[in-house]
Amino acid sequence: MAIEAVRGDITVERVDAVVNAANTSLLGGAGVDGAIHAAAGPELLEYCRGLGGCAVGEAKLTPGFELPARWIIHTVGPKWRGGQEGEPDLLASCYRESLARADEAGAESVAFPSISTGIYGYPVAQAAPVAVRTVQITSTNVRLVRFVCFDDKTFDTYRLELQSNQRT
Ligand code: ADP
Repeated sequence: MAIEAVRGDITVERVDAVVNAANTSLLGGAGVDGAIHAAAGPELLEYCRGLGGCAVGEAKLTPGFELPARWIIHTVGPKWRGGQEGEPDLLASCYRESLARADEAGAESVAFPSISTGIYGYPVAQAAPVAVRTVQITSTNVRLVRFVCFDDKTFDTYRLELQSNQRT
């Protein structure tokens, strides 16, 4: 599997599936969630109403609607509460479950945002190692994972994490 980090906007990614950092309602929100709903169009919200929400650490699949990506995988990251409340396991579960949904859809290229490190407050320096490591050790048919980072600090953190992993 190839794993890479780029700086950019996930809504324009030409991959089989993009991952949304959603909330438990799956009915849209701010940040990347708002951007994905805006770009995918109102049919996405209609579809999500039928899904009955999503638990933290789990993931659900929808069509991509107006996005270039064929699928959207909606996962709910943990809110940062200091790191002693299971946050790393829940964050790892988001990446694992998202790859499981990708496999079910037959998606071979998947773009992830930096789950939980925006409004949910997970420090990116602690989230990036969990993200990279989990993707590396998960058994999946996905051939390309791309971390799409919205700002320079996030991009630098993922890029350095990938570099240090390749050296070990
Ligand atoms: P969470 O609630 O899981 O923290 P956020 O959407 O607030 O989710 O933030 C997660 C990450 O997604 C942050 O690094 C944020 O800057 C980034 N982000 C926001 N919009 C986009 C976008 N269009 N494409 C990629 N990443 C985005």
